[in-house]
Amino acid sequence: MKTKKNIYLDFNATTPVDNRVLEEMLPFFTEKFGNASSDHFYGWDAGEAVENAREQVSRLVNAKATEITFTSGATEAANLALFGFCTKNRQKGNHIISCRTEHKAVLQTLEALQDRGFQVTYLDVDREGNIDLVELEDSIKPETILVCLMLANNETGLIHPLKEISEVVHRHGVKLMSDITQAVGKIPVNLKELAIDLAIFSSHKIYGPKGIGALYINRNNKTELDPVIFGGAQEKKLRPGTLNVPGIVGFGKASEIVYSEMDGEMKRIKNLRSLLEELLGNIEGSHLNSQNSPRLPNTTNITFKDIDGSRLLRNLNMLAVSRGSACTSNIVKPSHVLKAMGLSDELALSSLRISLGKSNTVSDIESAAGEIGNAVKGLKKISI
Ligand code: PLP
Repeated sequence: MKTKKNIYLDFNATTPVDNRVLEEMLPFFTEKFGNASSDHFYGWDAGEAVENAREQVSRLVNAKATEITFTSGATEAANLALFGFCTKNRQKGNHIISCRTEHKAVLQTLEALQDRGFQVTYLDVDREGNIDLVELEDSIKPETILVCLMLANNETGLIHPLKEISEVVHRHGVKLMSDITQAVGKIPVNLKELAIDLAIFSSHKIYGPKGIGALYINRNNKTELDPVIFGGAQEKKLRPGTLNVPGIVGFGKASEIVYSEMDGEMKRIKNLRSLLEELLGNIEGSHLNSQNSPRLPNTTNITFKDIDGSRLLRNLNMLAVSRGSACTSNIVKPSHVLKAMGLSDELALSSLRISLGKSNTVSDIESAAGEIGNAVKGLKKISI
């Protein structure tokens, strides 16, 4: 009997560390263990490796190395960007504009700012997940200091038109922050061309280690932030604390690899995604979310009508897929992203996010589609 294998299809949640990345990191745990702030050869070696990684990371998003601040991940970078920018610029105004479909790393930081007296307008989205640029422009008030909109959505893969958004926002002298975590490594991201002022991203989404990420601050246009933690001079005092040198080295190597391999790899993955969507599209009652808008090449979000969605994930025991974002999926709650797009709780709970990556093959896709098809059939509600 052929035994079935587990198939990982949740690359938007996290990715395995590339072996080449691991190899690059290992010496920095052992013989090259120096503190990057120490003024002796151990420290100089570590410091040089950090600056090399800063170059590699900045190249991936077309930034200058001096514009990259290392953090523990995108969540910390979101906190630093939002709190740091809003407290520094509070005398200019207290209004922020964002969107209901942002990641919780942004939404919950905005809630914390609201508790401290800031006002936030959350833009609605249409059935595909798109915002209305006229509504965005109409929401800008004299007190608006920041617009915060992600480049690509982690659940649907939907890509916001950041270039057009930045034109609208800058016309009013407001700064633009973007969560580019899911876009980096999947589509080309050129921060200079997009004219973004603050951006956040993370290593573990691009086959680098967990616990390391970055905040980009556009240094051309006086985007200024207050620190939110204190205690040292590292990262220009903006993110004090001993640097995670192995993590930073890994993030740098992962950035270098994804920069050079993305084009070919994403073509391959997009073909796999087309096959997956063709197969899943044949399942009765299925609907592909955000299908008619620009999307990340690796992400499929699909809803199945008239099934008991609460049991869907449990019935897919060989597949690692996700119902919503991984950060909330241990509590069975309908996705806030799909709900913002107008889906009922029931339909949102009957939806899957499938995100493809490096290790996936045609045979994975065929097996996954077969397993999902069988599970959906088994969960069809019987109409009497
Ligand atoms: N923003 C988006 C769009 C994400 O997908 C994630 C990860 O799930 C985060 C932020 C948080 O990133 P990190 O795990 O590095 O804190």
